[in-house]
Order: sequence, then C-alpha cells, then structure tokens
Amino acid sequence: MRWSFKVFHVAGTDVRIHVTFLLLLAFIALGSFAAGDAAAAIYGVAFVCLVFLCVLLHEFGHALAARRYGIRTPDITMLPIGGLARLERMPDNPSEELVVAIAGPLVNVAIALLLSPFASGPFHFAGIGREEAGLLTNLRNVNLALVLFNLIPAFPMDGGRVFRAFLAMRMDYARATAIAASTGQSIAVIGGLLALVNGQPMLVLIAIFIFAGAQNEAAFAQLKHLSASLRVQAATVTSFQSLPLDATLNEAIEALLASSQHDFPVLGPAGDVRGLLTRDDLIVALRKTGADTPVAEVMRVNVPSVHHTMLFDRALAILQESGCPALPVVDSAGRLVGLFTPENVSELLLVRNALERASSRRAAPPRAGPPPLPV
Ligand SMILES: [Zn+2]
Repeated sequence: MRWSFKVFHVAGTDVRIHVTFLLLLAFIALGSFAAGDAAAAIYGVAFVCLVFLCVLLHEFGHALAARRYGIRTPDITMLPIGGLARLERMPDNPSEELVVAIAGPLVNVAIALLLSPFASGPFHFAGIGREEAGLLTNLRNVNLALVLFNLIPAFPMDGGRVFRAFLAMRMDYARATAIAASTGQSIAVIGGLLALVNGQPMLVLIAIFIFAGAQNEAAFAQLKHLSASLRVQAATVTSFQSLPLDATLNEAIEALLASSQHDFPVLGPAGDVRGLLTRDDLIVALRKTGADTPVAEVMRVNVPSVHHTMLFDRALAILQESGCPALPVVDSAGRLVGLFTPENVSELLLVRNALERASSRRAAPPRAGPPPLPV
C-alpha cells in the first residue's frame, strides 16, 4: 500500500497509517481552529482517534480469528474510510471464513456493550459527568453503526463474506460467490439510487465502492475456481531465450528487439539460473552505464524459481510476492524449462473460462454464467 507508513508492530502484524488519514485529522482540527474553537478541535481529533481505535480493534478481531486457522496477517492499514487487514489468504473452509468474517463486527458489539454503562440510555450508570457521557454515547453509537454497516450482505463488507460462507456450505464456492456478489450489487444499486434521490453524495460513493468490491470478489473467486488443481507447467512459456552470464547489455538489447520477450533468465556455465534481467532494469542501466555493461551487474539475483509441478495458485502467490515480472520454471534436476509470466497466466485462464462455458452450455440448459474475468 503506497503512501502509508508503519506506526507499530503488534502480535505479528504491522499497523500502518495512510497519509490521507492524517490529512483527515488535520482537516478536522483546522476547521475548528479556524472557527475559533480550540476545545472543539481537540474534541474532534480525539473522537476520530477513538473511532479509529475501535476500527483497528475490529481489524484485529479478523486477524486473531484468522490466526486460529494458521493464517497470518502481515499488515493492517488505516485509511480515512476504515481499516484494511491484509490476510495472507482467506480460509478455504466456509465455516472458518464465517468465523473470520464475523469476528470483526463482534469486537464492535463487545465495545458497545462495555461502553453502555457509561453512555446515556437504558444501561446508564449514574456516576459519570454529562460531558464524558456525551463522548462515550457517541462512541457507543458509532460502534453500533459499524456493526450494522459491516453486516450489510455485500462484498467487500464482512456481511458479504458471512452470506457467501452460508451459501458455500450448501453449494460450490464459485457459485456461492456469484450469488453473493450479485445480491451485493443489487443492494448497492438500490442503495445508490435512494442516496441519489435523497441528495447524499457520500452514500452514492459508498454504493459505487460496494458495487466494484463485489465485482472484484467474484473475479477473484473465478480465478480460484479456474486454477484449482492446475500445475505451473500449464502456464509455462517454453519457447524463450536466455542470456549467458558473461553477456553484455548489447546482447540483451538484440534479444529484446528480436522477440516479444521482455525478461531474460541469465544462466551460469552449467545452465543453472543465476538471475533475471528485466526490461525495466535493462533500460535503466542503459541510461546510467551504457551498452557495454555486463548483464551480471544489472540482473536481479535471488529471484525465486518455481518447480514445474507446483500448484498454480502457490506459484501465483510467489510471483506476486517477488515483485518480478516473470519467474524461472525449473524441473526436478534444477534445469530451466521455461518462464512463468502474468501474461501467460491470464491467457490460460481466458482459455479455461471459454472452454468451461462451452462445456456447461453443452451439458446443461443455459443459465447465468459466472462474471467475466478481468484482463
Ligand atoms: Zn471487518
């Protein structure tokens, strides 16, 4: 996540703050100071910080529940619109996904219950001043609103995941996601129209955000479904060129211009992979040091290789994590047999998607297909 910085590290998770969140705080403080009300500025900033503490605890609810199933949460980022916990992966089992999804809102239920004796309302406990009671009442109400908002059965809200998990206990995952996604989109369209009629631009934006989130989730589930049980070799580019370790950038340029290949594995004398020369690194080096530079000085080293029988989604995760535009594919003897690239992955998925649609048309009467894959 760009434009965010780490604030602290707790229970194996980095807590990061996005700079726009600080802008929000500055905006609230400056607005009140400009109106000549320092007390309101302090109150406003303190209140927003408390609300965000509750949102952070909500995200830790997800993170700690996920950890029960051996899933780590590398970071949580706080944005002006809320928190974003980046889980390593989602649990595959619907009942586990249900627990992870519901854990967040349950934290806000717990906070609201804890605050109730100090807030105004039926459980009010008299020994507290009006001023503090006002702040705590607002905080309790925000937590209740967070529960209701998050339980809307639409992606990317927790309610969407809860709904999908319930469906997935009765049908396959891709179909459950398709139903949950279209339900969420219908809710977003109806909510967005109501907000538009009532002149609520903020709610219209949220509706658009929900609509896009549902589409993303459906595409992701489709990817998972199409790539299940596939191996790396299915998406390996096998006709490719490599460079010897003693080549110069001149030779790399020739290879680049002579083909549509962008990234070149660099091989040692025994044919072992020593590194990867990417097109971007090549261009940067050309500008800095010229065409006679040895590729060995420019190539990326420590590029992870993937085995040709590795499961596809595992290799995809390694590719994403590495930040490399391609990964070398090796066989059991450690020999380079090809390249694993995002372009090839999306082509393979397009083909699988088309074949699957053709076979389902032949096998069953026509029904609404899963959402298309983004390319
Ligand atoms: Zn949540």
